[in-house]
Amino acid sequence: MVKVAVIGAGVTGMSIVRELTRYQNIEVHVIEKQSDVGWGVSKANTALIHGGYDDDPERFPVRAKLCIRGNRLWHRWVKELQIPHIWNGALIVAKKDEDFKELEILLERGRKNGVPEMRIIEREELFAMEPHVVKDALGALWVPVVGQIGPIPAVIAIAENAVANGAKLHLDSEVLDIEHTEKDWIIKTPQESIRADYVINAAGLYADKIARMAGFENFSITPRKGEYWLFDDDVAPKPAHVLFPTPTKISKGVVVTTEISGHLMIGPNAQNLPAEEKENLANTREGLDEVWHKAQEIWPAMPPRSKVIRTFAGLRPEPPEGDFIIRHEDAGFINAAGIRSPGLTSAPAIAEEVANIIAGLGVELKIKNDWNPMRQEISHFFMMTPQMVNDMVAKSPAYGKIVCRCNKVSEGDVLEAIERMKFIGVKTPCVDSVKFRTKATTGTCQGSFCRPRIVKLLAEAYNLQPWQITLKGPGSEMGVGDIKVLLRGDAQ
Ligand SMILES: Cc1cc2nc3c(=O)[nH]c(=O)nc-3n(C[C@H](O)[C@H](O)[C@H](O)COP(=O)(O)OP(=O)(O)OC[C@H]3O[C@@H](n4cnc5c(N)ncnc54)[C@H](O)[C@@H]3O)c2cc1C
Repeated sequence: MVKVAVIGAGVTGMSIVRELTRYQNIEVHVIEKQSDVGWGVSKANTALIHGGYDDDPERFPVRAKLCIRGNRLWHRWVKELQIPHIWNGALIVAKKDEDFKELEILLERGRKNGVPEMRIIEREELFAMEPHVVKDALGALWVPVVGQIGPIPAVIAIAENAVANGAKLHLDSEVLDIEHTEKDWIIKTPQESIRADYVINAAGLYADKIARMAGFENFSITPRKGEYWLFDDDVAPKPAHVLFPTPTKISKGVVVTTEISGHLMIGPNAQNLPAEEKENLANTREGLDEVWHKAQEIWPAMPPRSKVIRTFAGLRPEPPEGDFIIRHEDAGFINAAGIRSPGLTSAPAIAEEVANIIAGLGVELKIKNDWNPMRQEISHFFMMTPQMVNDMVAKSPAYGKIVCRCNKVSEGDVLEAIERMKFIGVKTPCVDSVKFRTKATTGTCQGSFCRPRIVKLLAEAYNLQPWQITLKGPGSEMGVGDIKVLLRGDAQ
């Protein structure tokens, strides 16, 4: 057996892990500092499966190649893994005659990269597709192959499938040091030291730090912030397609879209931060204003601000030269670093690339006969017909109790989420783990009603006191202790 340790359980790391579980002679471990999978860069992004027309193959050959391949693979992965998705296509809107020159460049590049079915459409066709787009729009580039997925549900689905196929997940395990011995690598976490023949560095914003621990000092990763506004699902109108402005030299521009749960979403902008600000996820007034004004330039029918349910930010892990760093360094240490946009799109193709690198290092990859590509989606009360609800309630009354009113999440859904958390090895019970599996707490009230109910269910399932349950891992406990002890009069 060849032992491979993947550092980082984001979309890149987990896709690599899934790919490696195909082989009978590879034992694959993933080491992640957070309490659950997908909580790094993979959590907060635009969630687009890009078409592959943006990346200039002359300047960014790795991105250009892997984006288009990733798009194709996602068409298969969303089916195998039952990942929420929509293939609704993108429109890159032109407002000036000069914009068509840029659209022609994108069309030409897309064709070169192998993007199918792209074409420039006239004003009439654009307005038939999007009647509420800005009135002075002249036309658009239509890219039907673009889609949207739920990024965290996707990472969770990949993780469940990888674990079902034999991968081992080490959560709450921050890599503190990496040592190279004569024979192998030793990866040190606070709990254990993990031995590996090959190490794959998929640590997102911290890939430079992990590479340095292993003795490779050849790149640094800097954060580039993008901010978003998310609106309630009952706002109207909402676009049916992903809307982009015509891009500039520095940016793809602010996107206006209806994300897969039905919420209007606008963003992101692009703000370069210093290397040490890798945790700076704060929203800023300037950033949010910029996003709002830019979105209005293609979508003037913006809802009132009272319809905003959330603002958030994500940080792109920018590599120094702009292209992904996917290469074998030395002695079996492989970087999958600098995975900025379109990293979500490219992840399944990055996974293939890494498997090829391992094969190129002389490991014969022997296919497992019983590898199972399929994974079943968690049940969602809000997607069930009345007949299905009756059948589920007959099996378990928990499906008849609503925990989250905004998104119609039942107690049965939450209990199933907890079972699935335990299946992949979530040791620290977190409300966010339930949120990302069920959508509870993400509706209009943002958890005011359901959070205490979820805490109670987590406490029962993990045999803990409610105040020991965390929001998102150690350090975010719900409370400091039993504050009702005085009322009850049983203080010791
Ligand atoms: C604003 C924005 C918009 C974007 N939009 C899109 C889009 O629409 N389409 C698209 O294709 N891409 C998009 N991207 C890019 C995409 O989100 C990323 O490329 C992708 O999520 C990177 O995934 P990753 O697994 O490499 O990194 P991460 O998800 O960050 O995973 C790395 C993991 O490593 C862990 N880790 C770090 N250090 C350690 C350590 N010492 N020990 C153990 N674990 C560690 C982290 O906790 C993390 O979970 C966008 C990104 C941003 C920020």
